[in-house]
Amino acid sequence: KSGLSKTREQLSKQVDALLTGSRVDAETYEELEDLLIMADFGVETAQAIIQQTRERSKKAEDGDQVRDALKAVIRDHLQSCQSPRELTAPGPHVILIVGVNGVGKTTTIGKLAAYHKQQGRSVMLAAGDTFRAAAVEQLKLWGERVDAPVIAQGQDADSASVIHDAYESARARGVDVLIADTAGRLHTKSNLMEELKKIRRVLGKLDASAPHDVWLVLDATTGQNAISQVQTFHDAMTLTGLAITKLDGTAKGGVVVGLSERFGLPVRYVGVGEGVDDLRPFDAAEFADALFD
Ligand code: GDP
Repeated sequence: KSGLSKTREQLSKQVDALLTGSRVDAETYEELEDLLIMADFGVETAQAIIQQTRERSKKAEDGDQVRDALKAVIRDHLQSCQSPRELTAPGPHVILIVGVNGVGKTTTIGKLAAYHKQQGRSVMLAAGDTFRAAAVEQLKLWGERVDAPVIAQGQDADSASVIHDAYESARARGVDVLIADTAGRLHTKSNLMEELKKIRRVLGKLDASAPHDVWLVLDATTGQNAISQVQTFHDAMTLTGLAITKLDGTAKGGVVVGLSERFGLPVRYVGVGEGVDDLRPFDAAEFADALFD
């Protein structure tokens, strides 16, 4: 199960309807571009994909050849969204997870913890969203579920202080991966960004290379709204990657390519369901096959 069936159904079926057995002209390419835009590839990426498909299929007379060219071009674009980076830090490798409330941040942290544990690494979680009591409780539940210790303080504690303590504890215990949750209250945006910058400063004093990763979690169903979220967080934090959730609930799977290319940020993980195993390290070839078969 790829979790991309909705996107595939819509995109693949409509591309087939347009191209199978038919001759291709300028209007066909315009319609193809519209299909990509509807799947949230973004206007610029959609235009680039169509342009490259035209070049690649210059001699093509029939739709089937154009379809193959389109698939190959999309596969290339997905490839550039992938960045195979291993965990490099010798001490705790610190992954800071940021994003607005409701995008699936806590769930993604839980799934990510499970993933690393399955890979044989020890994991600790830091309850850095001190703004919402429910967030701390939810993280503790995930900690129990995946058998990872959770470092938390009382409500309204200083987020940077929680993460500072978690780092020291992780280092003392020889933990491989420390995953830190952060607040996602966007209505007081400037305060949140200051809080995130403080976390970065505090971590940097403990380990000059920390945080090793700062990933923004995005909900694929929010469409173009996600653009302003990337902009805001990237400005404040210099992100190292994206995790895109809820791809199972939308036909707009193209958002993965659109956002990644627009900001030059790799997609690290995709969420395709609510279960603990429904988080996949982003794999371009797999994604291309799931999008188009
Ligand atoms: P947070 O506020 O960002 O921490 O969001 P939560 O982790 O609490 O998630 C919000 C809701 O989205 C929950 O009901 C999750 O089960 C759901 N969710 C998270 N990731 C996915 C996903 O990949 N697919 C689906 N279908 N639901 C998801």
